[in-house]
Amino acid sequence: MSKVTEYLQSIMTKIEEKNSGESEYLQAIHEFIPTITPFLEKNPAYMEQNILEILLEPERIIQFRVPWQDDQGNWKVNRGFRVQYNSAIGPYKGGLRFHPTVSASVVKFLGFEQIFKNSLTGLPIGGGKGGSDFDPKGKSDNEVMRFCQSFMTELQKYIGPDMDVPAGDIGVGGREIGYLFGAYKRLNGYHTGVLTGKPLSYWGSLVRTEATGYGLVYFVKHLLADQKDSFSGKKVIVSGSGNVAIYAIEKVHELGGKVYTCSDSSGYVYDPDGIDVALLKELKEVKRARLSEYPSARPKATYYAGESVWTSTESYEIALPCATQNEITSELAQNLVTQGVKVVAEGANMPSTLAAVHVYQEHGIQYGPGKAANAGGVAVSALEMAQNSQRLPWTFEQVDQELDKIMATIFETCRDTAKEYAVPGDLLSGANIAGFAKVTQAMISQGLV
Ligand code: NDP
Repeated sequence: MSKVTEYLQSIMTKIEEKNSGESEYLQAIHEFIPTITPFLEKNPAYMEQNILEILLEPERIIQFRVPWQDDQGNWKVNRGFRVQYNSAIGPYKGGLRFHPTVSASVVKFLGFEQIFKNSLTGLPIGGGKGGSDFDPKGKSDNEVMRFCQSFMTELQKYIGPDMDVPAGDIGVGGREIGYLFGAYKRLNGYHTGVLTGKPLSYWGSLVRTEATGYGLVYFVKHLLADQKDSFSGKKVIVSGSGNVAIYAIEKVHELGGKVYTCSDSSGYVYDPDGIDVALLKELKEVKRARLSEYPSARPKATYYAGESVWTSTESYEIALPCATQNEITSELAQNLVTQGVKVVAEGANMPSTLAAVHVYQEHGIQYGPGKAANAGGVAVSALEMAQNSQRLPWTFEQVDQELDKIMATIFETCRDTAKEYAVPGDLLSGANIAGFAKVTQAMISQGLV
């Protein structure tokens, strides 16, 4: 066994002991660690300085009680989190997720991935993530407002425009960001740059709503262009029907491909004429309705209650998972192979299990991992911070072009780094090595802090 392999195994063992039972977090670390082997073989000084073990330890984890009152006057409580994982290249940056599945394990895995994603954008932002096991689904606006106010009353002690800048994620959209911003302002005065994903009327950025979905499709566009191919005429399967899914579908259609599916946690829709984006926006963004209502406006479409979109038996060429972690298991990945899928690019964070990623690799499916392919959201969040500091709004075209350029650079960085470390085509290794190299270089230059 090489010295590097021995070192990496010893670190893995320690991480497993210290974080036992945290399955999502351990999964993300298991995926990451082996991929940096070629980098450490080439740069043994990084191993001698033990910088990996230091990086793996989050700088700070905050957990807090969030008491709130429902519309009937009942007292309730949820758990809030913020993981400030790494600030070597900038203030902590990463979304807040409100979903019943949020736990220390989930926010740690998301925070860890965020370090490398943020580094790949080329912008000066460190890695963080947070959220709560509060479920906004089925709650009234007033309940969501009271919850957000209570959540921010505690979180505001730890964040600030140059310190830690949260944004949205699952269950946290414009409504929640508005309430969180109002609560922060009441306690600290007006600090435009403390949150991103703000509404446009108080210094949100154009394209932030579209950014993750559009960015994902730009990433695939550059991957296809690298092989003299394009989206034109491509059959695409998408999961999710939230912020990322909606704008990914919209951009695929703009570029000449067709998306046939979308889903939520209750089932999925197959529309043989292609998903009607205007209808989807009306259902999800305006009415906050369930996807099961889609076929009543599109009689040719079918809603498959209780089924995963990844069991679809139609044929597709490109798959864009945009819902949540671990939605594609190895069996479902095998189904994608059977359907003829050639490219999987992740809008969601860690939607493919490790076994599913192995299936992609064994069958030559090109794989764009979330930390590269969905970085467009945080990239435009960083552009929102830049506009807030400048006190100048940029135009839609300006931000959109910048986003496209950033996604091109991320793709090229992953591709070229994979080539440099003798794993050509392996964009996962390319993303991990490029992110790791930049962040650890910064950490080493700042000394043991
Ligand atoms: P939304 O809350 O807007 O939408 C989430 C979608 O995924 C909904 O359709 C939801 O269905 C579905 N979903 C959530 N949990 C499950 C589950 N357990 N099983 C099946 N479906 C589920 O979130 P976003 O679109 O913002 O986020 C989607 C993914 O993209 C997440 O992994 C997030 O971390 C990632 N991401 C988001 C970014 C952003 O800018 N928003 C940036 C980068 C990554 P239902 O309504 O039934 O819950």
